[in-house]
Amino acid sequence: MTLVAGVVAVQGDVSEHADAIRRAAAAHDDPAEVREIRTAGVVPECDVLLLPGGESTTISRHLAADGIDEEIRDHVAAGKPLLATCAGLIVASTDAKDDRVATLDVLDVTVDRNAFGRQVDSFEAPLDVEGLDEPFPAVFIRAPVIDEVDEAVTVLASWDDRPVAVRQGSVVATSFHPELTNDPRVHDLAFFESVLA
Ligand code: GLN
Repeated sequence: MTLVAGVVAVQGDVSEHADAIRRAAAAHDDPAEVREIRTAGVVPECDVLLLPGGESTTISRHLAADGIDEEIRDHVAAGKPLLATCAGLIVASTDAKDDRVATLDVLDVTVDRNAFGRQVDSFEAPLDVEGLDEPFPAVFIRAPVIDEVDEAVTVLASWDDRPVAVRQGSVVATSFHPELTNDPRVHDLAFFESVLA
């Protein structure tokens, strides 16, 4: 089966995410076709979706202006996988504590934008992630902190006693950037574990 993976291409790390998806797919002997999402109409053709980092205000405005936001909500409502990273996590949340971000409300968490960033701009940490055998080299760049999680949300990883990777149904979100290492295990966890299981 060819997996059709859509990467929101408003901003940020699109080719790195595409590479990670292809590597994860190759490990399952399944080809992946990656589509870049800039306009409405692409999301309905995708089996899985990726919402990368960048700047959450800009990303959310673009999604809302083009009607891509509704398509992503429909995708998640249909139980299809979504991986949201860093600013993508902020956009996917139900509450970004910032009116400038039009949240998608597909992940029942409250986030604090740039909370790690106030202390240290970026850092890398070996992270124990539920479902992965070995620690994941997690790169945090002006990362958001997850403040509150609904009981429907499972915390997959924490750093400094704060959740940094979560799952709710078909949605996986990380406050770090899993595309910035050559390690496709988080993409694998988000997409292939659920799609092919
Ligand atoms: N701090 C950014 C925001 O609030 C997110 C940073 C990132 O995606 N690396 O949108």
